Amino acid sequence: MSIEVRNLSRRFGAFAALDDVSAVFPSGKLVALLGPSGSGKTTLLRIIAGLESADTGTVLFEGKDATARSARDRRVGFVFQHYALFRHMSVFENIAFGLRVKPRRERPPEEKIRSRVHELLGLVQLEGLAGRLPGQLSGGQRQRVALARALAVDPSVLLLDEPFGALDARVREELRRWLRRLHDEIHVTSLFVTHDVEEALEVADVVVVMNHGRIEQVGTPDEVYERPVNAFVCNFLGHVNLFHARVHEGRAQIGTLEVEAPAHAAARDRQAIAYARPHELDIERTRTSESGIESTVVQILPVGPIVRVGLRRSDTGEPFEAELGKESARRLGLTVGERVFARPSNLRIFAEDYVI
Ligand code: ADP
Ligand code: MG
Repeated sequence: MSIEVRNLSRRFGAFAALDDVSAVFPSGKLVALLGPSGSGKTTLLRIIAGLESADTGTVLFEGKDATARSARDRRVGFVFQHYALFRHMSVFENIAFGLRVKPRRERPPEEKIRSRVHELLGLVQLEGLAGRLPGQLSGGQRQRVALARALAVDPSVLLLDEPFGALDARVREELRRWLRRLHDEIHVTSLFVTHDVEEALEVADVVVVMNHGRIEQVGTPDEVYERPVNAFVCNFLGHVNLFHARVHEGRAQIGTLEVEAPAHAAARDRQAIAYARPHELDIERTRTSESGIESTVVQILPVGPIVRVGLRRSDTGEPFEAELGKESARRLGLTVGERVFARPSNLRIFAEDYVI
């Protein structure tokens, strides 16, 4: 089931929680809605679910207008951050719940309910725990029960709001990999909300980056990480170094480094900001034909398999950081205080007046 939203806006008083949001979520994909707290992720999810209404705009399921349809009618499975299991019901009954409350003529016979619940227990790897109460499960197990419960009624779409948010880091990591594998088996169109960049990049087929009630970018994890469309996405998706630069007729100047900047062909001596991630900087001792940014080494910090090198730009004094593999750091043999050239293998340049 594909989902499309068109021109959704939602205000709370004077505050625009969603501001003219349009997007298409293709059928069978696992989509992450990623953004900082307050960016409108939950509001968008709840409007798609039919739990909240938009002030303006349309929600389409499989190309058909679903705006007026109730949550139940939309056949949406929902998993929240806080388990919301029925505490006095066994795991089995929690999962069976959605089937038992169906109107009589749609309700499957008891035999069917039992086999469906057991099938789901297998799917979420909780066979053998059917008789337990939620209080007798770990946090991760409870979220798997919540997921099985959402899947029991064969939802047309699965919506998950920070499903692993309340779990500790280790369990989160396990569960998100498990969700990825589960999705590969069941292929139900799924949207999950997260503010955790790593979670979105690792798990999703498609990442929707949100900020201030708007969608900044939609793309594969690789696209949004490697080719962010603006400074916000670049910053939000991972540690970046920021370099003040000037752009002029398709070229950019960053200290001693001059590079092609074809996107800025029309620029006439304008200020810009260039971004490079720490692992995208090579360090060279001598100035080569392709010049680097002249800098001084201020710190060398081995961290597990990598070495973080703190640097300071010679012309502006701006601090930045490069990340080297242990082996290449050893070969370079850098010392604090020495002059080097930092050469970016990937540089994203945004004109300064770009609205963040
Ligand atoms: P996110 O899930 O990205 O953290 P939300 O969609 O929950 O963001 O909220 C977006 C903004 O809308 C927040 O600033 C929040 O305070 C506001 N908001 C959400 N729901 C309500 C509500 N029922 N009443 C008032 N403000 C709300
Ligand atoms: Mg939220």
